[in-house]
Amino acid sequence: MSNAVELINLSCHFGPVRAVDGVDLEIRPGEFFSMLGPSGSGKTTCLRLIGGFEQPTAGEIRLFGQDASRLPPYARDVNTVFQDYALFPHMNVRDNVAYALMVRGVGRAERYRRAEEMLEQVKLAGFGDRRPGQLSGGQRQRVALARALINQPKLLLLDEPLGALDLKLREEMQIELKALQRSLGITFVYVTHDQGEALSMSDRVAVFNQGRIEQLDTPKRLYEHPRTEFVARFVGSANVLEGSAIGLKGKYALRPERIRVQPGHHRGPNCLAGELLDVHYLGSQTRYEVRVDGQRLTAVASSEEPDLPVGAPVTLSWDPAALRELEVAR
Ligand code: ATP
Repeated sequence: MSNAVELINLSCHFGPVRAVDGVDLEIRPGEFFSMLGPSGSGKTTCLRLIGGFEQPTAGEIRLFGQDASRLPPYARDVNTVFQDYALFPHMNVRDNVAYALMVRGVGRAERYRRAEEMLEQVKLAGFGDRRPGQLSGGQRQRVALARALINQPKLLLLDEPLGALDLKLREEMQIELKALQRSLGITFVYVTHDQGEALSMSDRVAVFNQGRIEQLDTPKRLYEHPRTEFVARFVGSANVLEGSAIGLKGKYALRPERIRVQPGHHRGPNCLAGELLDVHYLGSQTRYEVRVDGQRLTAVASSEEPDLPVGAPVTLSWDPAALRELEVAR
C-alpha cells in the first residue's frame, strides 16, 4: 500500500526565512503522526504544505501515491482542524457538522442523520440544537472534529487543536482523540509544541528544528535514544554531560530519573560529587538540582527517599548503560 503522505526534499522559503528546508518523510496509512518542535521550527508550514494552503518553493508532496504538489486544498482528500475551531457562530451544532455535506448537495435527512452519528462519535449526542457560543472550549473542539470528519477524509491535519484548553481537559481530549483515530482508522497528522502530548498520542514523531527534521522515531525511541542535544533537551528533560568530565570522549545525555543521589562525597566510576542547590517536592517524585564542577545537573527520585538538606554534599551516580552518546551538532 502506498504511503498516506510522502514529502520529498520539500522546502518552503519566505524571502530569507527557510520555514521548511529540505524535509523528507513518509507517513503510513492509519498512522497517528506528530510534528513536534519549538515555535518557529516550521511544523505549521509543513502542515499547511500538506493541506495545500502554502506552495512549496521546491520538492514534492505525494498523498496516497499521487503527486499533490500542485493541487488546491479542496482537491486533496484532506481536512484540517485548527486551534481556533473556526465554527460558524450563527449556525447550530448540527448544521456546522453537516456543512460539508450540504455543500456537496446531500439531502437534509441524510446529512442530519450523518451529523447525529458524528456527534455521537465525539460524545456530543443531543447537542445539535445549540450554537457554538453555548458550548465549552472542549465541546467546541469536538464539534470542529466532527465537522472535519463528516465527509470521511483519508487524512486529517490537526494544528495544535488542544492548545486553547486547560491542562486537565487537554489530557482528557488527548485520550479521546487517540481512541477516535484508532476507531476510524484515519491517518492523523498532528502539530504540537507540547512534547508530552506528542509522546502520549503518537505512533511516530518528527522533531523539527529550524525547518528541518532533527529526528523521526517512535515516542519511546525519541525519549530513550535521542540522537542530538536538541532532541534530548526538547523531548523530556536531560542532563548533557561533556565526556571529558566522566572520563569519556564526546557528549552524553543522561535522564534525571537515571541518576541516584546519595548523601556525602564518594569516589568511584560513574559518579560525580557535588553540592545540593535546590530540592523541589513534586508529590510522587522529588527533583534535586545539584552543582557539579560549575554545571547544574538535575536528578529525580521517588519521594520515599529520605530528605536531603539544601547545601549538603552529595554524590550522583548512574548505570553507564543509561548514558546516550549524542551526535555532534551539524
Ligand atoms: P508555531 O508553533 O509558533 O506556529 P511553527 O513551528 O509552526 O511555530 P511556522 O509557523 O511553520 O513554525 O514558521 C516557521 C518560520 O516561517 C517562522 O520563522 C515564521 O515566522 C516564518 N513564516 C511562517 N509563515 C510565514 C509567512 N506567510 N510569511 C513569512 N514568514 C513566515
